[in-house]
Amino acid sequence: MSGPSTHSPDLASLVFGWGSDVSSLVRTTGLCKHYTSGETIIRAVSDVSFSIEQGEFVAVCGRSGSGKSTLMNLLGLLERPDSGQYALLGREVAELSEDTRAIIRNREIGFVFQLPALLPRASALENVELPLIYAGVGRPERRRKAKEALERVGLSQRMDHWPHQLSGGQQQRVAIARAIVNNPALVLADEPTGSLDSITGNEILSLFEKLQQTGRTIVVVTHAPDVAERAGRQITLHDGRIVGDHGESDKFAFTMSANLTP
Ligand code: ADP
Ligand code: MG
Repeated sequence: MSGPSTHSPDLASLVFGWGSDVSSLVRTTGLCKHYTSGETIIRAVSDVSFSIEQGEFVAVCGRSGSGKSTLMNLLGLLERPDSGQYALLGREVAELSEDTRAIIRNREIGFVFQLPALLPRASALENVELPLIYAGVGRPERRRKAKEALERVGLSQRMDHWPHQLSGGQQQRVAIARAIVNNPALVLADEPTGSLDSITGNEILSLFEKLQQTGRTIVVVTHAPDVAERAGRQITLHDGRIVGDHGESDKFAFTMSANLTP
């Protein structure tokens, strides 16, 4: 277990001033996100409080429409909550500037979606290099890091292939390599196996397990119970609320509720 030392220390000190007293990676308190549709208010995420420790592999599960993607978008700083708090490594993200939020999204959060959304006219290697271009990394280091990421997802033999020359599972591996190329602290995956057959989906889940072993924190959103079972902990949503939080990490849930007790 390599631990927090694998996180990029530059950003950590820049944004968070990480010290030895680092708290939970993620901590939300009373998080709410509502949408209005005509006269109706949809409480997509409603009063959601939980924390995730560094190195956890958590599944956020629940039926379609239960608020999983909305919660993931909040955790990924893609959307802002209407109310409630969200602290990343003890730092309230609402207080961060838009620039800092963008830096965190680029370097500290890796996103994986149901469909890999690769650039069709770029090789696997070039697709994985993209976040490094946004991060201003020079070409030789970009190449090296992108190759390394593709090796980690088992695609070292396919680096020069175009997306259409790859299977669905291989394309999703490229997307995962792209998500981890900056060595993010947090990997957020929304239904990452939703378009794959069960064998290929299992391979992708094994890859997330492997990533967890290198110190990454993984959150996989899924409506499929068998996928959720692969994670150490399952947080279940229903109508935007947490209705269950089970698994090996129950002790963290306990810590959280203990801390929230007035
Ligand atoms: P899940 O990912 O669990 O299927 P979502 O988070 O996508 O659930 O959606 C939760 C609820 O919020 C649903 O009722 C959905 O229709 C609604 N919703 C999600 N995004 C929007 C949006 N941008 N505008 C209006 N309603 C939305
Ligand atoms: Mg969804």
